[in-house]
Amino acid sequence: MQRTLTKVVEKNQFLCPVCRTRSAYELKQQRNYFSLFFIPVIPLSKAKGEFVQCLHCGTEMPSTVLNHAQPE
Ligand SMILES: [Zn+2]
Repeated sequence: MQRTLTKVVEKNQFLCPVCRTRSAYELKQQRNYFSLFFIPVIPLSKAKGEFVQCLHCGTEMPSTVLNHAQPE
């Protein structure tokens, strides 16, 4: 059984390139876990990926947008 865990690693503000509003975002990290019966979960790989979610419009986008859209 495989499942993906998502955790919020950072909360901040940015200029969203989608809704063009300065709003809050959450930087999230996803990892795949493989669990067998009730044996503790084993991380299959390093971070599957990071993505940013704009809390204004709800759009999920690559974390690279933060490098280009930092508030002044
Ligand atoms: Zn937005």
